Order: sequence, then C-alpha cells, then structure tokens
Amino acid sequence: MLRITEIKLPLDHQPSEINAAIVKKLAINKADLVEYTIFKRGVDARKANAILLVYSLDVTVNGEAKVLAKLGKDPHVKLAPDTSYKFVAQAPETLKERPVIVGLGPAGLFAALILAQSGFKPIVLERGKAVRERTKDTWDLWRKSKLNPESNVQFGEGGAGTFSDGKLYSQIKDPNHYGRKVLNEFVKAGAPEEILYVSHPHIGTFRLVGMVEEMRNNIIALGGEIRFQCKVEDIEITDNQVQAVVLASGERIATNHLILAVGHSARDTFEMIHKRGIYIEAKPFSIGFRIEHPQSLIDAARHGPNAQHPILGAADYKLVHHASNGRSVYSFCMCPGGTVVAAASEEGRVVTNGMSQYSRNERNANAGIVVGITPDEDYPGHPLAGMELQRKWESQAYLLGGSTYQAPGQLVGDFLANQPSTQFGEVTPSYTPGVHLTNLDTVLPEYVITAIREAIPQFAKQIKGFDMADAILTGVETRTSSPIRIKRNDDNLQSINTKGLYPTGEGAGYAGGILSAGVDGIRIAEAVALSMAGR
Ligand code: FAD
Repeated sequence: MLRITEIKLPLDHQPSEINAAIVKKLAINKADLVEYTIFKRGVDARKANAILLVYSLDVTVNGEAKVLAKLGKDPHVKLAPDTSYKFVAQAPETLKERPVIVGLGPAGLFAALILAQSGFKPIVLERGKAVRERTKDTWDLWRKSKLNPESNVQFGEGGAGTFSDGKLYSQIKDPNHYGRKVLNEFVKAGAPEEILYVSHPHIGTFRLVGMVEEMRNNIIALGGEIRFQCKVEDIEITDNQVQAVVLASGERIATNHLILAVGHSARDTFEMIHKRGIYIEAKPFSIGFRIEHPQSLIDAARHGPNAQHPILGAADYKLVHHASNGRSVYSFCMCPGGTVVAAASEEGRVVTNGMSQYSRNERNANAGIVVGITPDEDYPGHPLAGMELQRKWESQAYLLGGSTYQAPGQLVGDFLANQPSTQFGEVTPSYTPGVHLTNLDTVLPEYVITAIREAIPQFAKQIKGFDMADAILTGVETRTSSPIRIKRNDDNLQSINTKGLYPTGEGAGYAGGILSAGVDGIRIAEAVALSMAGR
C-alpha cells in the first residue's frame, strides 16, 4: 500500500475529487486505482476565504512497485508504514509476581491494558472513585462549592483528562506508532472513528466517561484488578529496590515492579517519594489565566465566510508571543465551544482548566494564556519548589475569589487598563461556582502579569477581537504540566536510583496531555513486561 501526503482540495470538494487527485498524483490510469482510505485529514485555514483540506491517503493500486519506482524521488509518495501494535513479551504460564500500577489516568490505563493484554494481570491502585461516582463529587464542587480532595477533576478513574475537551493530539516523536494503538483502543472503547484520521481529534467529556468504563472492564476481563479509593501512601525500598507499596488503609502489597502514574497533582505523593529518597528534580512549567471570548468571534476570525462549516466545527487557535521582559506567553489547552472548569484538588485553593463536550457547541471559547517559568529563574533551590509556587498562587486566587471556590476574574479591557472590574459585559463567564470580579494584578507574579498584558494586544493582530474589552480572564491556571520530573534511565525506564520503580506519564514529567500520557504508559508497560519476562 502507498501513502500519499499533501493532497490539497477545497473545503467543499466532492469525494470523486480525491480519486481524481490520486490518479493525477500517481500518473496512473483510473482503472488502476483499487481503493483508498484517509489516513489523516488536516485543515489549512491560513486564508479564511480559501480554506483547504490537506489529506494523507493510503492507496492500493495495480502495479505498485512500478509506480513507486517511477515516483521514487517524490517525498509525498512512499510505502505506507506498518502501524499495527506488536507485543514485546508475554507473561510466563505461571506468574510469580504481579505488576502494580499507581494511578488510573491515561498513562496508568494504557500501562494496565498492555500488561493485561500480555497476560501479566496487573493490580491498579487508584486513590479516587470509579468514574460515575467521581462525576458526582466533581459536580459538587461546580454546583455547591464542596471540594472532595480525593475525588475531583484531578483524581479518580480516567485521571485528569476525563472532564476535558478530550483533545487527542501531540507533537511527540512516535516512531513505534504507539499513538495509533492509543487511538485504536479508544475507538474500540466507543470513541468516534474520525479520531483515527482528523488531524486535531477530540472526544469531549461524556464519551470519555463511557470509554474509560469500557477499558476498565476490558482490563478486568483479562485478569487485571482495579481497586478504587486505594491511595498509596508509602513505598518500601530496600537496597535501592522497590519491595512493596503501603495503602492509606495500612494494607501492604508486595511487588518488585511498580509503575508510578500519579499525574501532576499528586502533591502529597511527590512529598512522600522525595522523603523516601527517590530522585526527583524541578522542571519548567507555565502559569497564567483562562481567557473566554464568544466562540462566534473566534469562528469569524479564523474561518471568515466558512465559520461553522460542518467539517471545520468550532474554530480553535494557537498563539505565541515573546514578551519584552524575556518571557514567552502562549495559548494552552484551547477549548472551542467549551467551559472553564474548577480544577482544584486541595482545599482553600483555586485552579482553572477547560473542558467541552464532543459537539463543542457552548457559547464561549476558552484557552489558557500562560507564561513559561523555570526552576533556575523562578523557583530555585528545592525539587518541590515549583509545587510550592503553584500552591502559593492557587491560595492567593482562592482569597481574591472571596474564599468560596469562586475564581477571581477581570474583563480584558480592565486588565489592560489595570483597573478592577465591577460588572460583566457581553461575555458571561462559564466557570462555576462563579467568577468574582476584581483586579487580577496581584494574583500572579508581576512578570507574568506584565507579559500577558503585553501579549493580548499582540494576539489581537492574529485573532481579530482577541483584545475585546468584555472578554474575561479567570485565574489561576497553574497546572499546565508537572512541576517535577521523576527521573528515569533512558534504557530500562526505571528510576535512576530506585530499581523496580517505573515513573510514567505527566506527573513523572514524561508526558503532557492524554495522548502522550497513553503513549508513555505503553512504553513503560513494555519495559515492565520485558523485565518480568526475564529479557
Ligand atoms: P492523570 O490523568 O493525572 O492520572 C493520575 C491518576 O493517579 C489520577 O487518577 C489520581 O487520582 C491517581 N493518583 C495520584 N496519586 C495517587 C496515589 N498516591 N495513589 C493512588 N492513585 C493516585 N489533555 C489533553 O491531551 N487534551 C485535553 O483536552 C485535556 N484537557 C484537560 C482538561 C482538564 C480539566 C484537565 C485537568 C486536564 C486536561 N488535559 C488534557 C491534561 C490531561 O488530562 C493530562 O495530561 C493526562 O490526564 C495525564 O495523564 P496521567 O495518566 O499522566 O495522569
């Protein structure tokens, strides 16, 4: 099979135009085109009134070898790679030890799935609740300002991305096509098939909930065990080798193969592993606000006369500005037609993030507008100093929001003029339990405020109306990625000073987002499978 890339066709093209484009590109007779499937479909929206669809196509033709020889130098015609997943090891008939996985976010979920599919019968320990019960607790914060520190947007079955936009793309290098395995498993569990070929796939919250349950049932059917409300509070290590984990209940579970997939918000767990001497280091991340505009404004700016075209859906954006104080400001986790969500996991703190449903048809567009910060410059001296910095500004946001889990907010016009807001305008904020209008000037460090104040008018040069006076900023967005890295060896993927400990996913500093966390979970499962199979 051949893969042809960069086939560009107008937005409203007919299906037959794809056939014609293939025949032309390969310079073959119509009759020699047997069939094709769409591998990827991207959108080139640089010219709003001449939007193009950009295809990668997998094509079967008669006389493939001849066609390839003829077009050998064309970088856009190649043999299609084999993207099927190949297991690296199978469990022995008599399994003496079971691997233990801490955390059932995307990294833990895919580690568990691969190990279960290879016969290793993993035990998964998740501090939060099963996804339906967890949904109720999450709604308690959003509707009644009641936070459950063990069951919320960050903690529970499915992990941090369960109540999210469910964006499934990433810029990681993936030579083994693990990303394909993640997407295929998601489709098997109920995701729409289009995630396999659209360039910016997303799933949305409702579907994710059902998919997570389906995958859990799959793991259990294969001999895995999944235990909720089981927080790991300690790790026993002797002679630099993991021996067991200890749960909050006091129960001890022995294992020499421990996968740590705890996400970026497991602050108590980070403290525990640091105390146990497991090597961690501070890493860069970003902090800022969420911004909300009417989705119609973003659609018009990005897609012009094609706004709301069914193929394009609600428009997104990606923005970067290098500020004169040396800081980079960029848009993060943009959620078209979505809502801003309360994403705290610790009492007395406020954190924002964004989510949407598959339809992306809420009134507002939202995105993080964040500034990169680094340990050297902004939180030197201790591996957990970045985490403390997050805590400090999340507490400040709680106070400025009125100490009720409302988020502090400000209209963009007032933020640019550095004056407190007193009244909402055209944009109604979506964050619940509510937005408390104030001046955001003191809710984040001065260098962050200055950089964002400079960036917003610059962003308006790319997205007309981005600096709309009534657009709303809510704070604070502090959990863009993990503040630490649990460093591991490049070859066996174990902690650099603790044998048998396999850190993975976002919390370990090796992923950023659902897809890359799933991919990293697969890599780590393979390392465990190889070690347990004695290879
Ligand atoms: P997590 O998903 O954080 O999972 C870690 C799990 O470990 C949690 O379930 C936690 O309860 C558990 N745990 C922690 N400590 C312990 C312990 N001591 N014992 C037992 N269990 C423990 N990414 C995208 O790619 N696209 C998006 O659209 C997107 N939207 C997002 C929206 C929101 C609101 C949030 C919060 C995040 C979003 N993300 C998104 C980010 C994405 O969710 C994360 O990158 C991803 O979930 C990381 O996966 P993970 O498995 O590494 O960690």
